[in-house]
Amino acid sequence: MVIETNSPEETLELGRQLGEKAEAGQVYTLIGDLGVGKTVLTQGIAQGLGIEEPICSPTFTIVQVYESGRIPFYHFDVYRIGDVEEMDEIGFDDYVYGEGLTMIEWANLIEEILPEHYSQITIEKDLERGFDYRRITIEEI
Ligand code: ADP
Ligand code: MG
Repeated sequence: MVIETNSPEETLELGRQLGEKAEAGQVYTLIGDLGVGKTVLTQGIAQGLGIEEPICSPTFTIVQVYESGRIPFYHFDVYRIGDVEEMDEIGFDDYVYGEGLTMIEWANLIEEILPEHYSQITIEKDLERGFDYRRITIEEI
């Protein structure tokens, strides 16, 4: 599925819709360059789950847990991970096979420990289509 957005508000709204229909145990991965809109989309997903607090990038903690929504939201940013064993240490499987929605930024760095099935979201710019244009591709893996 490909969705095109032309403003941060539209990307936020797409995230909201994904959050509203998210189910426990679902896993999203999120790929895209710096400044492409990963945090905007994640913020929308959190809002769709009913989480009102702002989403911060969990860069220094690997995972940020939000419990105030309809189901728990586990937000990973694995950019700084040294090797996949570190993920075992923080209990990665307990989150991924747990009762919440898991979102993993930079998931390509931990490809070997991803679950068998997940939804992969890729966000790309295309400057020929304008500065605020984003192509958001969602694939079932
Ligand atoms: P990332 O987390 O991927 O590094 P951010 O979500 O923090 O990126 O920032 C995205 C930036 O791009 C924001 O400043 C946002 O306002 C801007 N932007 C412009 N157009 C869009 C769009 N269509 N979707 C999302 N963000 C957009
Ligand atoms: Mg970000």
